[in-house]
Amino acid sequence: MMLCKVCAEKLGKVSGDYCVVCCSFFEKSDEIAEKIAKSFDFEFESFNVGIRSEGSFKAMQEFLETRYDVKNEMKRILQRKLSEITQKKVSLSPELLIVFNPEDFSFKLEIKPIFIYGRYIKRVRNISQTRWLCGFCNGKGCEICGFTGKRFVSSVEELISTPVVEMFKAREAILHGAGREDVDARMLGSGRPFVLEVLEPRRRKVEISEVEKAVNEFCKGKVAVRDLRYTTVEEIEKVKEERFRKVYRAKVVFDREVTRDELESALKEIIGEIKQKTPKRVLHRRADVLRIRRVYSAEIIEHFGKIAVLKFETDAGLYVKELVSGDDGRTEPNLSKRFSAKVEKLDVIDVK
Ligand SMILES: [Zn+2]
Ligand SMILES: [Zn+2]
Repeated sequence: MMLCKVCAEKLGKVSGDYCVVCCSFFEKSDEIAEKIAKSFDFEFESFNVGIRSEGSFKAMQEFLETRYDVKNEMKRILQRKLSEITQKKVSLSPELLIVFNPEDFSFKLEIKPIFIYGRYIKRVRNISQTRWLCGFCNGKGCEICGFTGKRFVSSVEELISTPVVEMFKAREAILHGAGREDVDARMLGSGRPFVLEVLEPRRRKVEISEVEKAVNEFCKGKVAVRDLRYTTVEEIEKVKEERFRKVYRAKVVFDREVTRDELESALKEIIGEIKQKTPKRVLHRRADVLRIRRVYSAEIIEHFGKIAVLKFETDAGLYVKELVSGDDGRTEPNLSKRFSAKVEKLDVIDVK
């Protein structure tokens, strides 16, 4: 068995030209570290090293069993040499992970994502929250979607992502929202919480206030963001699970003239617990379940004959259009008991 000096010493054997244990890694480790460091053309402050274990290298490790952990030895050496060259620190939650393959001395770089928390305000209708692929072509582009591949021209996600991807020289960015409003509803007030996941950023040191400024400049008139700050991956789950209360403003039309008294008593009846089965309009993409949500208040902002502007405060996850229409008895109680009512326009005016 041919071994290098390091491996020979560890195993109490004589060394030769080529080492079958480490593929002569230890003799070439300076060169290897230099080569890896040369490929760093992006910002990072911390890193770590992983060693791939496959093929003959894996077989050799199994053969050596616990006598000598060659993998860990390689990892330590690369960590030390790379931090000497780059002056960056080794971390257990690194911004860069270098995965080294001892079989052919190849390596892969994994640039870890950046997470940004914020709230978004959607000032216009007919923008979806996230990219929504065209259902006819599945994103390939067809006549129905005007060869955009998308069901809606734009999304909050794309609007916010575009300047962010540019600033961070990232591959793309994904929006994780605290629930979502309907495509045709606006999202006003203090906005909806979200976490933006910025993938493969080549720049990391960006002043967050600059990000906020650039996004608001780019999305002007359509979407605005506020309260931006850097955060960690854990906040995605937190934002998604947190139970918010929503305040809605709805323009409602009735099938006949309704008196103020009638409307007021109908509104009183929907305050409290609501039993809501998944609305018919979303049944094709959501499971049919019964959910219990609360309505905290239901007020008249304006009312004239067949039209009213109403304000509702409800638990997150309550479908307001169906609270008003009744959805053929799938939402109980509802506003359409004595007359038939329909939401014509809907805005989320606050998320609490
Ligand atoms: Zn060796
Ligand atoms: Zn299409």
